[in-house]
Amino acid sequence: MKKILIIHTGGTIAMSEDTKTGAVKPNPLNPLHDTIHGVEDAELVVEDFLNVPSPHMTPSYMVHLAKRIDKRVMEERIDGVVVTHGTDTLEETAYMLDLILETDIPVVITGAMRSSNELGSDGPYNLLSSIKTASSLEARGKGVLVVLNDEIHTAKNVTKTHTSNIATFQSPQYGPIGIVSKRGVHFHHHPVSDQRFVVPSLQKKVLLLKAVAGMEPEVLQSLCDLPIDGLVIEAFGQGNLPPRTLPALKSLIDKGIPIVLVSRCFNGVVQDTYGYEGGGKELKEMGMIFTNGLNGQKARLKLMVALEKTSDRERLQDIFQR
Ligand code: ASP
Repeated sequence: MKKILIIHTGGTIAMSEDTKTGAVKPNPLNPLHDTIHGVEDAELVVEDFLNVPSPHMTPSYMVHLAKRIDKRVMEERIDGVVVTHGTDTLEETAYMLDLILETDIPVVITGAMRSSNELGSDGPYNLLSSIKTASSLEARGKGVLVVLNDEIHTAKNVTKTHTSNIATFQSPQYGPIGIVSKRGVHFHHHPVSDQRFVVPSLQKKVLLLKAVAGMEPEVLQSLCDLPIDGLVIEAFGQGNLPPRTLPALKSLIDKGIPIVLVSRCFNGVVQDTYGYEGGGKELKEMGMIFTNGLNGQKARLKLMVALEKTSDRERLQDIFQR
């Protein structure tokens, strides 16, 4: 029988709806403790690590969570791990764990769009699907997985796409790498990249900005006086920015602040295609780092992690290309 460690961190999956006000709120006692008694074929060990709505999650909590998982996996015989989490920042915690966890056993993150006492509550079902996935031998070596609504996604590609629909988690362009059915877990793709970084803690401050038409240069100028270590910009299309933003961005680069470009588009990669003012060619020549399809929130976490290892631009560019 597989021994599965379940680590709760909070989120809607652990909340319930106040029948008078309609407010969905955390519970002092996680309702999932009553749900998961009847799981066959797995011995479950449960830990209440946090009980927070996921907008309260921080990179520092994520690092502590990773350390906790690695410690327990090292000290006990554990075959797989399931983390329950709020869906708002679930993809960020999943990706952070993917980058910094040392263990190779399956680690699955799940959540719910409907709280524990709402009609059609999806939490218990998602938890059960995640336990099945974490128990699967095939889940090994695929990085941290996100399981909801019968689908298995990679931490790298998955994103929350809908505010309320239970099919909110999608991997734009790539799709899920497997499905969960009544009888088991079926993988149909194998992820190709695997980048891991052992970091004791995260000390670097990295900001994320989104480019907009006619973006006010003052936003970027104000950054020049802030104590930041890196910047990620969600640029237009293939990686282009409004010309008025360039002088401040050049000052930041001259100060040694790495700037990583991702796209506002949720499909495709950024590259140095355009040769007009503010186009990708100029941005690349200025020294901006281009990514390989990550979204802004994940690129920010990756830059925080990567900066713990190096501030060399070439090495950062290499890390962000993979
Ligand atoms: N706002 C909630 C949270 O992220 C949403 C959810 O869990 O689905 O904690």
